[in-house]
Amino acid sequence: MKASDLIELKAVERRYETGLLALQGVNLRLARGEFVSLLGPSGCGKSSVLRLLAGLDQPSAGAVLREGAPAKGPVRDTSFVFQEPTLMPWADVLSNVELPLRLANMAAEPRAQAAQAALARVGLGDFARAMPRELSGGMKMRASIARALVTQPALLLLDEPFAALDEITRFALNQALRALWCPAGGQPAFTGVFVTHSVYEAVFLSQRVLVMSARPGRIIEEVLIDGPLQRDASFRESPVFAAACARLSAALVRAAEGPDSAGPDHHREAQLG
Ligand code: ADP
Ligand code: MG
Repeated sequence: MKASDLIELKAVERRYETGLLALQGVNLRLARGEFVSLLGPSGCGKSSVLRLLAGLDQPSAGAVLREGAPAKGPVRDTSFVFQEPTLMPWADVLSNVELPLRLANMAAEPRAQAAQAALARVGLGDFARAMPRELSGGMKMRASIARALVTQPALLLLDEPFAALDEITRFALNQALRALWCPAGGQPAFTGVFVTHSVYEAVFLSQRVLVMSARPGRIIEEVLIDGPLQRDASFRESPVFAAACARLSAALVRAAEGPDSAGPDHHREAQLG
């Protein structure tokens, strides 16, 4: 573990109480400020990895290290975003975004100011007094992201957040998330781990994409995305983008075949058909 590392999974195994071995031999190191995506077939353990990173679950073997020390219990400076925006329907957008600060007993005035600022950052500055039912799916997701970021977490975990959105909305949110992670001329604002089924989304968003194998899940491929810090639609047309997508698509095919088929020899066989 390096000094700049935020969190590390070391030889992690997770066997659930049902006897199911969900993860085996998972090694993952996140540097502070990094943005990493996890790709893999359904049921390969992506959500399990996020729960371990959040301290909401413990490995059955191996270790979770937080800044080099064994992590114990839920980590306060970690936020989650799920596919379902889960806004309280009876409260306006501002109150929804304020909720984590209310739970942390922050006084009303700074709380409202912080929530308003978070809403402005996701492009919902004019919707503080709107009710969730008045928002589109993409706007609800923006509010959900504002609520996750209002506490200024060190680690933001996103579990297939945009999977239910149409492609145009998803592209817009990809761009918005990228800009939230690294504002123009600034430094990365948090460490991000993004779970998705979309190779394109993973490449657009990330500095590094990891592919997990079918159960028991482990990481079988790592692709570094050598793109610019500030990315817009033109990045989707670049050779770097195309090459990374091609490599990850091939890795996903191998991933679906399971952990024992991920070796280079098998890769050759798979390509020969
Ligand atoms: P993914 O997010 O990649 O779809 P999950 O991490 O949700 O995968 O689940 C990995 C495997 O572990 C699946 O087979 C799932 O059914 C199983 N699983 C997840 N959570 C539990 C649990 N609490 N108890 C038992 N099995 C679980
Ligand atoms: Mg999942």
